[in-house]
Amino acid sequence: MRLCHACLSKPAEIFLDYSQRRLCIDCFLKYYEKKVKQTIDKYRMIKVGEKIGVAVSGGKDSTALIYVLKKLYPSLNLVGIHLNLGIKEYSNHCNEILREFIKKLNIPLIEFNLLKQLGFSIHDFEGTEHGKKICSICGTIKRYLLNKIAYEERINKLATGHNLDDIVEVIFNCYLQGDVTQLSRISPITPANHPKLVARIKPLCMMTEMENLLYASYLELPFRSLSCPLSKGNRSLKQKRLINEKIVQEIPTFKHMLFKSYLKRIAPYFKTYPNVEIFECKYCGMPTSKDVCAFCRLTQRVKKLIVE
Ligand code: SF4
Ligand code: ZN
Repeated sequence: MRLCHACLSKPAEIFLDYSQRRLCIDCFLKYYEKKVKQTIDKYRMIKVGEKIGVAVSGGKDSTALIYVLKKLYPSLNLVGIHLNLGIKEYSNHCNEILREFIKKLNIPLIEFNLLKQLGFSIHDFEGTEHGKKICSICGTIKRYLLNKIAYEERINKLATGHNLDDIVEVIFNCYLQGDVTQLSRISPITPANHPKLVARIKPLCMMTEMENLLYASYLELPFRSLSCPLSKGNRSLKQKRLINEKIVQEIPTFKHMLFKSYLKRIAPYFKTYPNVEIFECKYCGMPTSKDVCAFCRLTQRVKKLIVE
């Protein structure tokens, strides 16, 4: 029987391949919480008295996030924000699990239902020219609505459950595509550069997807068991699989190295990267780099199709 490398007394249950450490469940939970706290402190993500919105989807990452934030900062002014995207079976499943869980944590939950409040769902984009890039459309809609809700609710910072696997996949893709603009935006904390933009923080950016899954599972936190039916062909899932099944097998430190070297050696060059000029959308008044924001461009087209 192998013993935990931290307490040297209990049997090891978890092997962290990137650091070659074996931990028992209790030491893993302590390690997880300590690392999240260190990340929050290092990047000064949260200040005393701030109101923090947490985007909760019902998945393991955001579930682990809101739980660990409440545990680390019991008196923090936390608010959950959940978008019901109207995806058949999946969205209601996420919604139900989440409602009960957030209530138990004694955290207020803001729910936004796309179908009820805007008259369309993510399915309505399936028959359009965007049908093949449904996750990218969904991402644009989620980003816009989360920011709008956070802005209207006077939330100081919006926390999302992005994990190390998510970030590494985006860096990997930016390198592949030579997408310097997108690369320049990758950061544990995104400041608000317009009065209607809410700063974003990623407290789980140093935790792998597997670590979030283990944390949520060992604590028996409820998270969705269904996967999104629209995720088929999703680029990010394919690239994450490639990274985990091929590269990490050969280089266990790959994900940590890629993000750390990016933060240390590449991100500093972006301090002088030209910021795009920000205007206000002529329809909704929210910030955009064009005269009409991406959300209004997408949704106006879909609303027209529904009426037709
Ligand atoms: Fe949206 Fe794609 Fe995620 Fe489904 S898998 S919720 S369509 S981003
Ligand atoms: Zn707009």
